[in-house]
Amino acid sequence: KAAAPQKKELVVGTAPSFAPFEFPSEEADKPTGFDMELIEAIGKKMGYEKVTIKGMGFDALIPAMNAGNIDVIISGMSITDARKKQVLFTDPYYESGLMVIVKKDNNEIKSFDDLKGKRIGVQLGTTGAQEAEKIEGAKVTNFDTSDLACIELKNGNVDAVISDLPVLQYFLKQKGSSYAKAVGTPKKGDFYGIAAPKDKKDLVDGMNKALKELKDSGEYKKIYTKWFGEMK
Ligand code: GLN
Repeated sequence: KAAAPQKKELVVGTAPSFAPFEFPSEEADKPTGFDMELIEAIGKKMGYEKVTIKGMGFDALIPAMNAGNIDVIISGMSITDARKKQVLFTDPYYESGLMVIVKKDNNEIKSFDDLKGKRIGVQLGTTGAQEAEKIEGAKVTNFDTSDLACIELKNGNVDAVISDLPVLQYFLKQKGSSYAKAVGTPKKGDFYGIAAPKDKKDLVDGMNKALKELKDSGEYKKIYTKWFGEMK
């Protein structure tokens, strides 16, 4: 029996507001970043002629995939039990974690433990939002992007922002350190995976194989180093 013909185009959903994993570039509809280069390389390895990126809000990604509008999701998406009920994930491709930032002159909040009763900005539908909801008495405000939460920190409308460690680190390095600083110890043990629909086990197997090949060949390392510096 002949193998099923390979689909020519892989349509990938992302929320392009999560630097350095994905952010808009000068070229319209061509987001750049670590995730974007990784999925491009994975798609190529799998024999797709074209990898097309579709941008949307983070909380719209899983519904869009389950409606058949995109084939897979790569968007700094953490592998969680709740999401595993809705989608399949590849093997982890990046270890992340959560971090807190506050205004530079805030000497009251020194760690996650000092967030009780505080105003916290988070990104809608993320693990950071989930973490914030667990904090006693906290007034949590959801924003469409992590960047918007940071702007509200600058404006003094929230006391702290909880988001992903590498994204907040990048933000501080790029522009944020003029008014914000990181506090406390990051909560580690969060892993990003590429998501596919529940009935596409083959697609996940293919992506895992490609990911492994990219790791073995050093291509993964090259992309990693470009966006994050030396690999630990
Ligand atoms: N890693 C976080 C999550 O999966 C945030 C992802 C994002 O905002 N792109 O919820």
